[in-house]
Amino acid sequence: MPRPANVDFTAQPLERYGPVLNDDFPAIREVAELAREFFRGRTLWQINSTALGGGVAEMLRAFLPYAVDSGVDTRWVVINGTPDFFTVTKRIHNKLHGHPGDGGSLGEIEQLAYREVMDESLEHLLEQVRPDDVVFLHDPQTAGLIQPLNDAGAITLWRCHVGIDEGNEHVEEAIEFLVPFVRPAHGYVFSRPSYSWPQLPEERIHLMAPAIDAFSPKNQELSSWVVNDILTTIGLSGGQKPSPPPFLRSDGSSGLVEREAEILQLDPVPPDAFLITQISRWDVLKDFEGVLEAFIRYLADTDAHLALVGPSSGAVSDDPEGPAVHARITATWEALPDDLRARVHVVNLPMDDFDENGAMVNAIQRRSDVIIQKSLVEGFGLTVSEAMWKGKPVIGSAVGGIQDQIVDGESGILIRDPADLEEFAAAVRSLIDDPELASALGDGARARVAARFLAAPRIAEYVNVIGQVQAGRALDVASEGSI
Ligand code: UDP
Repeated sequence: MPRPANVDFTAQPLERYGPVLNDDFPAIREVAELAREFFRGRTLWQINSTALGGGVAEMLRAFLPYAVDSGVDTRWVVINGTPDFFTVTKRIHNKLHGHPGDGGSLGEIEQLAYREVMDESLEHLLEQVRPDDVVFLHDPQTAGLIQPLNDAGAITLWRCHVGIDEGNEHVEEAIEFLVPFVRPAHGYVFSRPSYSWPQLPEERIHLMAPAIDAFSPKNQELSSWVVNDILTTIGLSGGQKPSPPPFLRSDGSSGLVEREAEILQLDPVPPDAFLITQISRWDVLKDFEGVLEAFIRYLADTDAHLALVGPSSGAVSDDPEGPAVHARITATWEALPDDLRARVHVVNLPMDDFDENGAMVNAIQRRSDVIIQKSLVEGFGLTVSEAMWKGKPVIGSAVGGIQDQIVDGESGILIRDPADLEEFAAAVRSLIDDPELASALGDGARARVAARFLAAPRIAEYVNVIGQVQAGRALDVASEGSI
């Protein structure tokens, strides 16, 4: 099994948020100074299990460059796992979302597969982490590292991005497996109140929602010609291949979009077509299959096109289910009558170059007329904020963090029952029929993200939570000393 690896990223100037945040910016600058003071002589660590694909990697890339610019020594480590480990952690992930997943259990064999990877990952970490460093451990994949890092003198925070609004027996089973690993953390961070666990001491629970970086390749402004050229380059739009369109990479250097996507389509999307898009990992819980079904059943009589977009299958290392979902969608696509098949595009974006992939997602979101996020459950759903920031009307299921992002009727449309295909289709149709409504929802969406879901202001939340967790740990140490 490969050792854990440190992920490289480059500082980015916090100052560039000045024009975005206006009057709120000076306060952010002050907090950044506090952060620098607090971290003098210590390091902020982030540990997760994939550097590519998925919301956690995305969120870290959005925030860490600004932490470094603030003067905080910040490192990101990705642990590696065996196939058995990722089968177990995917099972836990699905159960925490309230779903049975592959139906397997979480018994002794699973404990062994889990602990084995934890033990192997530790060695690498213990060589680097020092006493009083602050370590954020993300999701079930890293929980087993908490106690040994505590023993090494670190301040540990477990950040859980997964949850469900109302628990069930699957959630209970996953929590039972995880709680002995998680409990020793000095702080627990959940994305929303309903995700937190009653089994954990309440005073150590904190809330932090994810956020996006307005300047990343995925979210930066792109001119309409760059959008067109990117779509032509990847093959989603037709026409002659242009010279490779430019964008700004995460490290500030210039990049070019050069790769093609693997696309299942009869022909490219016509320039004037109304385009409905969902972009996600090929995860059952994102319900791409439901989106396709709703399109087939209820939107066949429109001229709209549908793009289902995900990472090239197998590229997201901690997501073993991806290829199966993609295969089922392919089979449905192949069985469609020609006229419908001509309007459905199943897109696999290359992941070889993370920034280039981001620019492709960016261009597709900007080209789309409506973005769907029809998740059956959702931790947060960064794709929603990404599309909203681009002024797009988003139709999302009223589950998990999607509800925190979209205010129904103001900054998008929420569908109460995520399984209600007819409602989804009716919402799409309402936007096809009423471009003014679509545009007003798009404006509301951008304003909402500007006010709540941008990365740089999150530095204040980090400082606040870490401060509280450190104070709590100091109290623990003092009370242990007095026994
Ligand atoms: N994503 C991507 N390329 C793809 C598909 C998805 O970069 O081909 C990104 C997407 O833009 C978003 C992240 O993966 O930033 C998914 O995060 P989200 O919170 O929506 O869901 P998660 O995958 O964490 O469940």
